[in-house]
Amino acid sequence: MTDTTAVAINANLTAVHKRIELAALAAGRRPHSVLLLAVSKTKAAEAVRSAFAAGCRDFGENYLQEGVDKALALIDLPICWHFIGPIQANKTRAIAEQFDWVHGVDRLKVAQRLSAQRPVEKGPLNICLQLNVSHEASKSGVTLDQLDELAAAIESLPNLRLRGLMAIPAPSVDPVEQRAAFAAVRQALEKLQQRWPTLDTLSMGMSADLEAAIAEGATIVRVGTDIFGARS
Ligand SMILES: *Cc1c(COP(=O)(O)O)cnc(C)c1O
Repeated sequence: MTDTTAVAINANLTAVHKRIELAALAAGRRPHSVLLLAVSKTKAAEAVRSAFAAGCRDFGENYLQEGVDKALALIDLPICWHFIGPIQANKTRAIAEQFDWVHGVDRLKVAQRLSAQRPVEKGPLNICLQLNVSHEASKSGVTLDQLDELAAAIESLPNLRLRGLMAIPAPSVDPVEQRAAFAAVRQALEKLQQRWPTLDTLSMGMSADLEAAIAEGATIVRVGTDIFGARS
C-alpha cells in the first residue's frame, strides 16, 4: 500500500460521506441514519486498514475464502464484517463463524445451517433476506410472494436475528427507474414490519445509485468502487 493509495481512499471516503449526507438531508433524514458499508472485495487488507484509519468500521466481502483471509489478517482491528456474496449451502460454517452480518439469505436451508453453525458465544448472526425486485432469472433472491413464509421461518431460528431486506436491482442510469426499484423494497419491508416491528434494515444502494436508495429509505449503502477504485 503506497501512501498515495491511502490518500486516495481518504479523499474518496470524504466524497462518499458528503454524497450520503446530501442525499439524506434531501430526503429529510438524519445523515447518521445511513451506514456506509465499505465493500472491499478483491482489494488488499492494507486498503481495508486505510479505510479503517479513516473511520470505516463495517466492511463487506463477497468471496468467502478471500473474506476469511482478510478478517484473519486484520484480526487486530474491531471490524464488523458483512458477507454480501452468493451463499453456497455447503460453505455456511465459515460464514456463521467469521461474519457478523449476512445480506444475501434467500432460502431456508441456508438460514437453518447458519443458525445451527453460529457459535453461541458470538451472539445472533444478523440476517437480511435478499429480495429479487427486478425479476431477473439470473439474480438470486426471493420473490415478494415468498417473503412472508421465509421471514416467519427465520424468525423462529435461535441463533439468527432477522434485520430486514437487501436488494441489488438491475443497473439503471435513470434515477426514476432506480427509485422505483428501491421503493418496492421499502414497501416490502414496511409490510414485514407490520408483523415484525423490530425489523430495521434496508441494505440497498451502491456506488452508482446510493442517492436513489437513500431517498427510498436505505439504512445501509454498500459502496466499493467509489471508495477503493475500480476492480480489475
Ligand atoms: C460489489 C458489490 C457492491 C459494491 O458495488 P460498487 O458498484 O463497486 O459500489 C455492493 N453490493 C454487492 C452485493 C456487491 O457485490
